[in-house]
Amino acid sequence: MFWDREVELLPREELEALQAERLRETVARALCTSYYGGVLGGEGVSPETIRSLDDLRRIPFTTKEDLRRGFPYGFLAVPKEEVVRLHASSGTTGTPTVVYHTRRDIDTWADLVARCLYMAGMRKGDVFQNMMSYGLFTGGLGLHYGAERIGALVIPSGAGNSRRQIMLMRQFGTTAIHVIPSYALKLLETFREMGIDPKEDTELRMAFVGAEPHTEEVRRRIEEAYGMDVFNSYGLSEMNGPGVAFECPCKEGMHVWEDKYILEVIDPETLELVPEGEEGELVFTTLCREATPLLRYRTRDLAFVYPDPCPCGRTHRRISRIKGRTDDMFIVKGVNIFPMQVEQVLMGFPEVGNNYVIVLEKVGPMDEIVVQIEVREELLRGGIRRLEALQERIVRALREEILITPKVEFSEPGRLPSGEGKAMRVIDRRGV
Ligand code: ADP
Ligand code: ZN
Repeated sequence: MFWDREVELLPREELEALQAERLRETVARALCTSYYGGVLGGEGVSPETIRSLDDLRRIPFTTKEDLRRGFPYGFLAVPKEEVVRLHASSGTTGTPTVVYHTRRDIDTWADLVARCLYMAGMRKGDVFQNMMSYGLFTGGLGLHYGAERIGALVIPSGAGNSRRQIMLMRQFGTTAIHVIPSYALKLLETFREMGIDPKEDTELRMAFVGAEPHTEEVRRRIEEAYGMDVFNSYGLSEMNGPGVAFECPCKEGMHVWEDKYILEVIDPETLELVPEGEEGELVFTTLCREATPLLRYRTRDLAFVYPDPCPCGRTHRRISRIKGRTDDMFIVKGVNIFPMQVEQVLMGFPEVGNNYVIVLEKVGPMDEIVVQIEVREELLRGGIRRLEALQERIVRALREEILITPKVEFSEPGRLPSGEGKAMRVIDRRGV
């Protein structure tokens, strides 16, 4: 059940003592970078001034803009010849940022990912198909190394090429997959075209999904359609990538590996810590990374920490599902809305298919929100009356959640824009 029993069950007090010790080492390493050398020097922060974990607050936050400013080598803490790999973020929200790894960093990361996969129940003997893109994106190689460490048979299928993915699953008896949740739903269409039932005609028993926000409803849909257990996996390239937080078999929140990261949750406006249980922005500090130590990195991801301990016994705190990034939020008629609020409502309707897009438009001086939804084909052929009734129910349910009345449009399965990577949920046409 445990990959690293001692560490996973470490009493809080010892865990926090370990964090303080490792924070001192991290500060020492960070001082070797040109960026932190300047910033920490200016604040009078040195390893000696970190006496307890509370002294973390003396350190300024690091933002994505800081990382961009330090591009390409401003955050490198070791001589270049010690670096064996680099990764970059997908650049969803602007210029990508880069993170360097020493051989030991890669090793630590692989071990951390193995810990996640083992916790969820993957074992030697499993056939693991890694359907995430390989390359600069961390989802591919990150999971690959972790799964190999467990001893699973890894199929590095990469992203896309839906028919081949399904063929590989059938030929090699894939039991576990790593996949972006929106792609897992999209793949169901190809299963249907090929006349293959993912539940009956494959050996699939578990999936690790991550890289984009998704709701509990989406997890349930994937679990039901494929007949497998789905585990949420959270990470970001600035913190290695996958392996930062992961669901245990209790499937209620993701354990953040606090022997490797310090987690803080702050109010993005006041920058003050929020109480446990309250939503805020996640902030991470790396604890064991040699090449690119990062201090108090502001992720812009919103979640809360579960205040109570997990029934599984692991002492590492759990974060909730990610609601979205602070910059995912859009404002229509003065109301703040997150795409996940819309998703939660839509996916609760069994008639609603597996893809949707939120379009923001200007109609005269007014903002309008149009939700385009795929519905099952039978329904589109079933007559206008039924469609209108459904439309009305969806509009009502959405209005209850987002407080304004959206327009709802139906479309056939496969017609809405979709890709192999992170789903684009919002198209904002108000500026053009
Ligand atoms: P980019 O920031 O350019 O998208 P990354 O590949 O580093 O590049 O993506 C990390 C981000 O992806 C996270 O900060 C978060 O917003 C999102 N993400 C990753 N895993 C999850 C998850 N399980 N649930 C929700 N969002 C996730
Ligand atoms: Zn647990």
